[in-house]
Amino acid sequence: MKKLFILMCATGLTFSVATAKEGKKKSCCQKKAATTCVKPTEVKVGNPADVKAASGPFQIENLQYGYADLEKAIDKETMEIHFSKHYLGYTNNLNKAVEGKSIANQSIEEILKNLDMSNGALRNNGGGFYNHRMYFATMSPNGGGTPTGKLAEAINQTFGSFDALKKQLEEAGAKRFGSGWAWLFVNKQGKLQVGSTANQDNPLMPGLDISGTPILGIDVWEHAYYLKYQNKRGAYLDAFFSVVDWNKVAENYAKAIAQ
Ligand code: MN
Repeated sequence: MKKLFILMCATGLTFSVATAKEGKKKSCCQKKAATTCVKPTEVKVGNPADVKAASGPFQIENLQYGYADLEKAIDKETMEIHFSKHYLGYTNNLNKAVEGKSIANQSIEEILKNLDMSNGALRNNGGGFYNHRMYFATMSPNGGGTPTGKLAEAINQTFGSFDALKKQLEEAGAKRFGSGWAWLFVNKQGKLQVGSTANQDNPLMPGLDISGTPILGIDVWEHAYYLKYQNKRGAYLDAFFSVVDWNKVAENYAKAIAQ
């Protein structure tokens, strides 16, 4: 809120400089006029349950929390734009990409595993749909902490400790140049592995340098964090761990190793 207020004041100041010459009202940010300064109203956000994809076989997976519920890590404006614009956009465009084709009856996992990587529309939007569905489903206002059970055992066996895994994931996200994702996934040997992919690619897709079944994805596109964190991707990555739903990640792990 404070940042938004400063931004609005900065905009107002520019406006006031331009209009001062014309003898008009001074900006709300000028000290003399401070008593008449009107603070902008709180930004209202919508209801995630109202977000529906246009017709087609793929639909948005309902958000299990409100846009404002992850504010300890991600601000509500970012959540709303990310869910209701980006995720929805990928879903609608995936539906368009499969329209009238036999793959329209396949699961998104089947489509991605057998993907022709030269098909840009299907690669970007199929990946965008799958990746965002997992991202939003593995966050929770009650998240954070550390994994338990078999997932915790596997993490300790592969990485030595949870902290070591966290460090690897943060490094994978921080080092990804431009837009992409950091992944915790189950590789072809059934072992946990950390890696990253560009754009909306993921380890299900053929021919990439990492291959397997994702169980946790961290979106490192700027649209995932820029309003709150600006260029500080590392701070976003660190905060992301305070909202990870490890129970959901454990469910994903159990399904992945059962395949
Ligand atoms: Mn995204």
